[in-house]
Amino acid sequence: MTTLDPWGAVKIDNYSKLFDEFGISKFDDLLARIPNPHRYMRRHVIFGHRSYDTVLDAMLSKKPFAAMSGFMPSGKAHLGHKMVMEEIIWHQQQGGDAFLAIADMEAHAVRGKSWKECRELGINEYILSAIALGFEPGGHIYFQSKSNQVKDLAFELGIKANFSELSAIYGFNGETNIAHMVSAITQSADILQPQLAEFGGPKPVVIPVGADQDPHIRLTRGLAYKVNMFIVEERQGQEKSFISVRGKAAPKEALSEIAKRTGGKLYEEHVDVFKRTLEEVEKIVRRVELQYGGYAFMPPASTYHKFMTGLQGGKMSSSLPESYIALTEPPEEGAKKVMRAKTGGRVTLEEQKKLGGEPDKCSVYELLLFHLIDDDNELLEVYKDCVGGTRVCGNCKKHAAELMRGFLKEHQEKREQARERLDEFGLK
Ligand code: SF4
Repeated sequence: MTTLDPWGAVKIDNYSKLFDEFGISKFDDLLARIPNPHRYMRRHVIFGHRSYDTVLDAMLSKKPFAAMSGFMPSGKAHLGHKMVMEEIIWHQQQGGDAFLAIADMEAHAVRGKSWKECRELGINEYILSAIALGFEPGGHIYFQSKSNQVKDLAFELGIKANFSELSAIYGFNGETNIAHMVSAITQSADILQPQLAEFGGPKPVVIPVGADQDPHIRLTRGLAYKVNMFIVEERQGQEKSFISVRGKAAPKEALSEIAKRTGGKLYEEHVDVFKRTLEEVEKIVRRVELQYGGYAFMPPASTYHKFMTGLQGGKMSSSLPESYIALTEPPEEGAKKVMRAKTGGRVTLEEQKKLGGEPDKCSVYELLLFHLIDDDNELLEVYKDCVGGTRVCGNCKKHAAELMRGFLKEHQEKREQARERLDEFGLK
């Protein structure tokens, strides 16, 4: 018997490599602990994470945490960007501090956009939509080029990042311009910024990304580790394990303060701590590091979501207008794109009735799953009717097109209201 799987359109198989090779953990293992999981969590669109348990623990115990993401203002904001915006907004609604960076330095250095274009695209495409989707003024929306904090931090991080490391991730070579490299390290500064003293100091921060963004997360986690004053590790001694705190460049007094507070044994460049948990020691070390002027960054956490396929099958790409629906698309045009989208229907109506449709291969079903139907039971009905052969693609597309038209119309009205509220975000 085949099991019905309404989330099958977002098959996980293609992503299993990430779990095995790169040590990304399965998001499902945390799902039961999340009180109001977002639609993308419930439907397994978010499939993996790194250290998200730190964010979840903070969320559940009402301690500070944050969520951040950046958008490069180089073209139209579309449904793929909406996914990330929704994830940030959801975390804000759960009590997190929210950060939204407009990566104008990257758009200027890499895509050749003028500063004026960056500003206009940043506001008109990304910021208005984020506010319209529910981003609230308590959060922070900023342009990289206008944030001295981010630029200063990027410079500090640059001391710990070398050319070979960056070129392995971004494919830099001798022809790559320096500003491009600076913009790459600036993204790491964006990710770590929520942990600066100005924003309340070290805390768990989640970066919701697509699976292809993991190299950047790994780079930033590595940099966080390298700029910190101390390295805290669990070690195995001859008989029992202990916690080692190393601080080669740290002030001697800071190290002896750690020995005093943890009851550990002080050596020249490290302290060995027995009978304490890693978590306890990390907490003490963080406090001492801050006292001595260090960053004490926690490694940033991340969640990984699957990508939507293009409306015509294949990849969704900004260079193929038929493959995506922009958030500023005229509602009528958006509805037409849905009507032209590739379905998982059979060749003839007769076959469709006999064999049922294939929602797992249908971009219309994907639209319903990712964006247009919020109620899981309603979506399950669509799925069952499709595979049972009682739902025909023509009507199904009309239904999805109607929902898309409604969404775009409402979203665009909200964007106009958002335009009036830009000053609440310090953007006028
Ligand atoms: S009936 Fe709907 S969900 Fe099923 S294949 Fe056709 S368009 Fe897709």
